[in-house]
Amino acid sequence: MARGGGQNWSSGESDGQPEEQAPEDTGDKMVKETQYYDILGVKPSASPEEIKKAYRKLALKYHPDKNPDEGEKFKLISQAYEVLSDPKKRDIYDQGGEQAIKEGGAGGPSFSSPMDIFDMFFGGGGRMARERRGKNVVHQLSVTLEDLYNGVTKKLALQKNVICEKCEGIGGKKGSVEKCPICKGRGMQIHIQQIGPGMVQQIQTVCVECKGQGERINPKDRCESCSGAKVIREKKIIEVHVEKGMKDGQKILFHGEGDQEPELEPGDVIIVLDQKDHSVFQRRGHDLIMKMKIQLSEALCGFKKTIKTLDDRILVITSKSGEVIKHGELKCVRNEGMPIYKAPLEKGTLIIQFLVIFPEKHWLSPEKLPQLEALLPPRQKVRITDDMDQVELKEFNPSEQNWRQHGEAYEEDDDGPRTGVQCQTA
Ligand SMILES: [Zn+2]
Ligand SMILES: [Zn+2]
Repeated sequence: MARGGGQNWSSGESDGQPEEQAPEDTGDKMVKETQYYDILGVKPSASPEEIKKAYRKLALKYHPDKNPDEGEKFKLISQAYEVLSDPKKRDIYDQGGEQAIKEGGAGGPSFSSPMDIFDMFFGGGGRMARERRGKNVVHQLSVTLEDLYNGVTKKLALQKNVICEKCEGIGGKKGSVEKCPICKGRGMQIHIQQIGPGMVQQIQTVCVECKGQGERINPKDRCESCSGAKVIREKKIIEVHVEKGMKDGQKILFHGEGDQEPELEPGDVIIVLDQKDHSVFQRRGHDLIMKMKIQLSEALCGFKKTIKTLDDRILVITSKSGEVIKHGELKCVRNEGMPIYKAPLEKGTLIIQFLVIFPEKHWLSPEKLPQLEALLPPRQKVRITDDMDQVELKEFNPSEQNWRQHGEAYEEDDDGPRTGVQCQTA
């Protein structure tokens, strides 16, 4: 039944996955361990941008200000990011795993403090600047692609520390500050712990009474309004102007709107935009990318189609009669991409990737096939000789095999034009 002649009229590639272009490398990467990647929820082949984005989301979610019980998780996220964001360290990790990192292959085995990593990432100004200023407060603001296209003003309610007005940030009556009687002004407490026969361990902790300050307000003189904390939590509404063309991860700074602390300049409020995925468009720089399914008849004979833009206009695109659009082919519309930040009259490009829907099996009766064949480019002739092996061509179903163990070569991935799926037998 299997005749040798090639039914060669399909484009000869597997369904759904275009292989025309390769805008990014999604090839599987062999790494020793994936733990750091797993912590950030990215694939080992993730781009530096994907790693940044993953860190941004997780760090804001697990920051001790928002999630005081997740300190360990915050630390792990920070460590994973510190390694994976540095090409040299990432390389060492990919080859030798966590062990190699801990052995200090790249500039010492120690990790930076999670807070320093966080401040560096979100522009906290570093430790020196921080000592003279109150803490910066970082918030994530969820926006749609439409918001970034059209611009929008959003109101955001924040909690922040402000200096207590009643005691003017002293925490009690004037002159009520005394040396902490618990730690005797050292700010630290020392505990002795028996850890075995004849063995004791000294543990130093921050003094609970004065929180390391070395001084406290005598309880009977404490300010009623702030209970001696010097600051009180206040709700504040800020208006965030999201401008046309801003992008995912962009920061909007509110100078001096952060937490207030006595004797310090207030920190900043930093709003980080977090763009939700869009059902039609994907953004890449100034460009928008979309996929469009077309019928085989449309691919071969031309069509008119409509596209709804992010500002609700309807574009009509035409493929002229007689033009052929191949499966996976890219076309573009100039000036219909994202507005350019600070120059919103200019826009990027809208890139459309066409996915051709081929007819189902046996869609045409065998009698009619010759009619179709007469219209199509000729089949390729193959000469079959007796010394060739005729074999059966069957459906291939990756889930029945052990393919997944060799990586993710068959994983469906729906975000954007990608390279074709290739069979890799490692
Ligand atoms: Zn104390
Ligand atoms: Zn007070």
